[in-house]
Amino acid sequence: RSSKEKFDQISNLTVAVRIRPMNSKELACVGAADIVRVRNQELIIRSNPCGNSAMSLDHIFQYDHVFWSCDETKPLYSSQEDVFMTIGKPLLNSAFRGYNACLFAYGQTGSGKSFSMMGRNTCEVVDIDSEDFSGIIPRFCRDLFARIGKLGTNATATVEVSYFEIYNEKIHDLLATANAANKMPLKVREHPEWGPYVVDLSVHVVSSYKELRNWLILGNKNRATAATTMNENSSRSHSIFSIELCLTEDLNESDSSRRSKVSLVDLAGSERLSTSHNSEEKIRQGVSINKSLLTLGKVISSLADHKKNQFVPYRDSVLTWLLKESLGGNSLTCMLATITPANANLDETLATLRYACQAR
Ligand code: ADP
Repeated sequence: RSSKEKFDQISNLTVAVRIRPMNSKELACVGAADIVRVRNQELIIRSNPCGNSAMSLDHIFQYDHVFWSCDETKPLYSSQEDVFMTIGKPLLNSAFRGYNACLFAYGQTGSGKSFSMMGRNTCEVVDIDSEDFSGIIPRFCRDLFARIGKLGTNATATVEVSYFEIYNEKIHDLLATANAANKMPLKVREHPEWGPYVVDLSVHVVSSYKELRNWLILGNKNRATAATTMNENSSRSHSIFSIELCLTEDLNESDSSRRSKVSLVDLAGSERLSTSHNSEEKIRQGVSINKSLLTLGKVISSLADHKKNQFVPYRDSVLTWLLKESLGGNSLTCMLATITPANANLDETLATLRYACQAR
């Protein structure tokens, strides 16, 4: 038996899935099995891999891209560079053409969101810049400055970065000079022309990759510290790293300038509320995490519907409200769903794959 769930490609929206290797804890489990198979661009999940084959159900999914990152010795293997070239690079190209872009990593905690977005050890220069481990964000930023370096003499580029997290629907600046964890949450307002923005969010002009990397590492450290101070795990917050690019070309006596914004988002863990502990505070947090993730799903699916004049519920969560200008219209959106191959995570894996499928 098999059930087939298909994602239809819509030009401005790309949906990709990445499978990480089994970890030692998963391998040590009694009855541990790898339930993920990849065939062309199809992803097959075996719900009963060891049992009676008559009872097993294959769930087949299709996406724009499937990155199998389980065993680097196999030809099927997708490296960090492969993932960047396939889904990160098109966003950079569109930014240079003046369009906004958004990339989200969605999946259960421990499935590889930060590894894909930032890299292995997100607070160390050697790992951020490592050929093997560097994630989409540092690769994007290195390429950005490499391209700026190749601009002609009649063109200039300005790059500004900001980095914040949304924790329990509250915004914290990860690049504020004082300890971000002690700062009051920031507010969102909507400018009639430029759209929603975070009031008093620090924005930093950077002129080289090295300079940008320092901010990146500071933000990653602040994220980790904030999580520890709140006795929490960073998997409960959404982190948004934004790059604003302004390109000005001097065209015989007149200037033309293009502005674009790229938001690279590491979403909170998608695991269900029921799996978290039962304290009131945790339930409250769980509800708002789900609200942001649920609203994001609704926003993306209503955009993909392409129905004119359809109401898009951006303002239902802080995350979607702030990203309004980068979702829809001419913006490029990419959803990277991350999953584990272990049978123990079957339910969460199916939930993630279905979430990615409904983004259509
Ligand atoms: P998440 O951000 O979803 O909570 P992480 O990115 O922190 O998950 O990944 C959990 C662990 O799995 C980390 O130790 C990370 O280095 C490892 N990991 C994740 N994805 C991969 C991958 N594609 N290849 C190798 N290791 C990975």
